Amino acid sequence: MDIDHLIVKPGSRISLSNFDPGYVGSYEKQHAKELLKTSLKQLTLDQDKLYAQNTYALLILFQAMDAAGKDSTIKHVMSGVNPQGCQVYSFKSPSAEERDHDYLWRSMKALPERGMIGIHNRSYYEEVLVVRVHPEMLASQQLPEPIKQDPYIWQRRFEEINNFEHYLVNNGIIVLKFFLYVSKDEQRQRFLDRINEPEKNWKFSTHDVKERSFWDNYMNAYEDVFNHTSTTWAPWYIIPADHKWYTRLAVSRVISQTLESLNLHYPVVDEERRRELLEDKKLLDAE
Ligand code: ATP
Ligand code: MG
Repeated sequence: MDIDHLIVKPGSRISLSNFDPGYVGSYEKQHAKELLKTSLKQLTLDQDKLYAQNTYALLILFQAMDAAGKDSTIKHVMSGVNPQGCQVYSFKSPSAEERDHDYLWRSMKALPERGMIGIHNRSYYEEVLVVRVHPEMLASQQLPEPIKQDPYIWQRRFEEINNFEHYLVNNGIIVLKFFLYVSKDEQRQRFLDRINEPEKNWKFSTHDVKERSFWDNYMNAYEDVFNHTSTTWAPWYIIPADHKWYTRLAVSRVISQTLESLNLHYPVVDEERRRELLEDKKLLDAE
């Protein structure tokens, strides 16, 4: 799969209207499901090496509108991964303790250790998305007044985020950022399904319908995020999300191609260690 066209080219200015949430390329559902299985097997092998090598970590961020499929993508794509090598965190509206800290604090606490894949379901990008769409949220943050009033606050946060991600990558923590791009129509359909199907009722929240009325504001905020924070060290991927089977395949391919590009390998055993292993083997053989 060509994943290049999913990347927001660093330095470019994109408009979401040029991306199609319903895009599936030349794939069809059944074939894509087979390809996903193969891709997940590859991911399992790569993750095993990531863990054994204990040098790199992979931080994967998911951002999206409600019902775009973050949860189910995480569930499917990580189904082949050893649970010991993977941690998932979901970031909700900040708690009182979290609000008492700087906005990166809770994400820093949840960063993956070397060898691990850390998945963040929502992230510090909420601080330049939902907080921007709802100015009253910024107003209620415990920040000094001049900082809240700064007309360049979003620009500054973009820079802070870029610097933070650069720092992570320079420390061997690879950062992957996915925006699952669902269309407004498909979101409506998924909300209706959540209302109509009793076993999906729990997923539905009246608040989500209210947020939907801010759709255009969100799209503008997202575009600004992509145009300022897609960097050579941590680019954004815009993943078409109207067809879940395509979303899963695309996300798994990006993850696996990223891991492949790291040339991961199992720790190499030196001559001395090899001799020790052979001594141990002799002892075991002699039993
Ligand atoms: P999701 O909507 O991600 O599937 P959920 O429905 O289980 O998860 P919610 O209670 O909706 O959980 O929590 C997510 C909500 O928290 C979103 O509306 C999101 O915008 C909000 N949120 C996340 N981070 C922040 C933040 N830093 N500041 C304000 N709101 C935030
Ligand atoms: Mg929600």
